[in-house]
Amino acid sequence: MAAYDADVIIAGAGMTGATLALALESAGLKTILIDPQVFEVQTAPTFDGRASAIAYSSFRQWRELGLAEALEPHAQRIEQILVTDAHTPGAASGRGLRAFLRFDADEIASVSGGEPLGYMIENRHTRMALAAAVTASDIQVLAPAEVAGVSADGAAAVVTLADGRLLRAPLVVGADGRASKVREAAGIGVIGWSYPQVGFVATVAMEQDHGGVAHEYFLPSGPFAILPLTGKRASLVWTESKARGAALKAARLEVVEAHLSRRFGEFLGQVRLDGPRFSYPLSLQLAERMYAPRMALLGDSAHAIHPIAGQGLNLGLKDAAALAEVLVEAMRLGEDIGSEGVLERYAAWRRFDNVSLAAATDIFNRLFSNDHPLVRTVRGVGMGLVNRIGPARRFFMEEAGGAVGDLPRLLRGMPL
Ligand SMILES: Cc1cc2nc3c(=O)[nH]c(=O)nc-3n(C[C@H](O)[C@H](O)[C@H](O)COP(=O)(O)OP(=O)(O)OC[C@H]3O[C@@H](n4cnc5c(N)ncnc54)[C@H](O)[C@@H]3O)c2cc1C
Repeated sequence: MAAYDADVIIAGAGMTGATLALALESAGLKTILIDPQVFEVQTAPTFDGRASAIAYSSFRQWRELGLAEALEPHAQRIEQILVTDAHTPGAASGRGLRAFLRFDADEIASVSGGEPLGYMIENRHTRMALAAAVTASDIQVLAPAEVAGVSADGAAAVVTLADGRLLRAPLVVGADGRASKVREAAGIGVIGWSYPQVGFVATVAMEQDHGGVAHEYFLPSGPFAILPLTGKRASLVWTESKARGAALKAARLEVVEAHLSRRFGEFLGQVRLDGPRFSYPLSLQLAERMYAPRMALLGDSAHAIHPIAGQGLNLGLKDAAALAEVLVEAMRLGEDIGSEGVLERYAAWRRFDNVSLAAATDIFNRLFSNDHPLVRTVRGVGMGLVNRIGPARRFFMEEAGGAVGDLPRLLRGMPL
């Protein structure tokens, strides 16, 4: 250890990097977190306007890492998800419309232990809870600081920071997002493409209570989601063409609110914008491998996907739980935590889930951002079938809750 600055150096103190650092620290591994953005910048109201649908298994991990008290006041239970396929804007209530799907938390209560389908939490609150927990821990945070390069020699990975400092550890993790420097240094290529769409995101305040119901509403330009937040508020994710997204961001408040009223219809009463508007470019990007000698990838650096199913962050949190468990087990067995054998165990655990979800979200987006009559018929039949077949509906709900497959201990609510 004398020759090392830490057991694990993590590039990126976003939501996945900070979660991994807390998980490793909970089992006694020494970590350094590096990020160009200090926590105060990450938690400012104008930094990240998104709210994330957090699977109940992901929430169990945060609970296990001591974040429940900070997160629970901001976590809105999702009791029901209503998916509606409609041609024209209007009330997203599903009644009287061509095709709709209804998912209900009560139906999977025996598997979920009475948990909701998920929790909606504004990213800003999650970032605040993670920042407070990291700051109160022994994790060393270097911010603002930027990883400029990584090389691996026989016994260590050497990180070069943009200011010239050098750091050594048996393992470096790239939790540094879509443009990952660690991935580049590792020589890992990516496959994928940009979507001709952006995700327009805003928070709205409504007259009526949402009752914990999340609405996903498929329009020809792409999905439009109304996701319940605490209080009479909701987070909108409005997938639109790039040109329409730019126009929505620039338009006067009254114009955007008029558009929103048309989309919402009457059932949530009057709707007004509650905070700034954001627009996110959308792409699919899969790393060809999840590790290289003494380097591993985590979260969006390994797989960035379309937000249609609200699963991108959940995949990254599953990566964090699996990687932490593999590394802690290796440490306890006296293995080299940066060795190929150990990193292959992590990649093997996560590969199928990450690749299959990336492919599924891509297919869903193509299928649902489409107004071709044949495609509309096929998806209408598909939705009708899933709606009528109880086990199929329950499978989708358990999958969305992250309860399917070989779950790492933290996602089962158990310590490492
Ligand atoms: C519109 C939209 C809605 C979404 N909704 C959901 C949802 O409901 N549910 C869900 O699960 N997911 C959702 N997602 C996906 C989710 O937001 C991402 O998957 C998640 O934020 C990725 O987190 P990350 O920590 O892996 O990467 P990032 O958030 O990109 O963090 C990377 C970090 O690395 C830092 N960094 C960058 N370069 C360097 C460097 N050289 N050195 C050190 N640090 C560096 C950055 O500053 C940053 O802090 C949504 C995405 C979009 C676009």
